[in-house]
Amino acid sequence: RQANLAHLKSLPAESIDQQRVNLYSNTGLLADIRPGLERGSEGIGLYRSEIPFMVHNTFPTEEEQVRIYRKVLSAYAPKPVVMRTLDIGGDKALPYFPIQEENPYLGWRGIRFTLDYRNIQLDQIRAMLLADIGLGNLQIMVPMLSREDELLRIGAIIDEAVSQLKEEGHAVVRPPIGIMAEVPAVIWMLPHLRDHIDFVSIGSNDLTQYLLAVDRNNPRVAHLFTPFHPAVLRAIYDIARECRRLNLAVSVCGEMAGDPKAVLVLLGMGIRTLSLSAYKLPLIKWLIRNIEMRDCRLLLDDIIDLPNEKEIQKKLEQRLDEIG
Ligand code: PEP
Ligand code: MG
Repeated sequence: RQANLAHLKSLPAESIDQQRVNLYSNTGLLADIRPGLERGSEGIGLYRSEIPFMVHNTFPTEEEQVRIYRKVLSAYAPKPVVMRTLDIGGDKALPYFPIQEENPYLGWRGIRFTLDYRNIQLDQIRAMLLADIGLGNLQIMVPMLSREDELLRIGAIIDEAVSQLKEEGHAVVRPPIGIMAEVPAVIWMLPHLRDHIDFVSIGSNDLTQYLLAVDRNNPRVAHLFTPFHPAVLRAIYDIARECRRLNLAVSVCGEMAGDPKAVLVLLGMGIRTLSLSAYKLPLIKWLIRNIEMRDCRLLLDDIIDLPNEKEIQKKLEQRLDEIG
């Protein structure tokens, strides 16, 4: 189907009953910029900033980072670009900074690492702010957050970067700040975090891994790793509802956002912003243009109380077959 979907590039992601969806792309390598733009991506919903760190031989300098981030931000400006702060640890290793842990996914990862290496985090945020000068499309997102103090501390680092750069004579602005909802604790922390953030993005890959206690990369348990597990869907539904209640923008940037069956469910939950691999954009846009949101809500009612992923996926597949 992909081949004949090119004509969708300039058409909006709008359902039959005229509800608009924001379709963003996920990036990390500079090579990911173009595929998104070519397919009508409306912004970057997740820039994995650890990827340029992983392909280097040492920690990149502030200047090197500015150059890379500037390319990403300027390619998309004025469309928004959500840059995630360094998310290393877990399965994301830096060749020049080995981390040895028995339980890396439960260990020194994402915000936990960068708060312990405050200067690395400060440099990265300075580089992001410098790269954004004159563009103004940067948003900053924090991975693996589970606690209020982590948010206060990263907020202080951002404030410090802004005031340092202003003192140095740069016209920087404090960008919107968001968090990944990927550690399950966040589901119940949102009211405590609300006043410090502008948006939430659901990282369904890690949320699934941590909710189900299933390593996302272990083939032994790969059959147990599914976002269609009733508890994962319920968790995402709860996050979506809580964000609506708290008047917080919410999106999904995990692999689910590129899976047509999952997209039916996410739209049914009221999620209107998805960030996905550029290559899946045309298909997901086609799907959105061929459904009614009313139908997605009814479908959600049909599946949300089913007891296992098999029955859930069967219902969703049936619906997809009817759509075409
Ligand atoms: C996620 O966890 O769903 C996510 C988008 O982040 P990553 O896959 O980079 O951990
Ligand atoms: Mg993640």
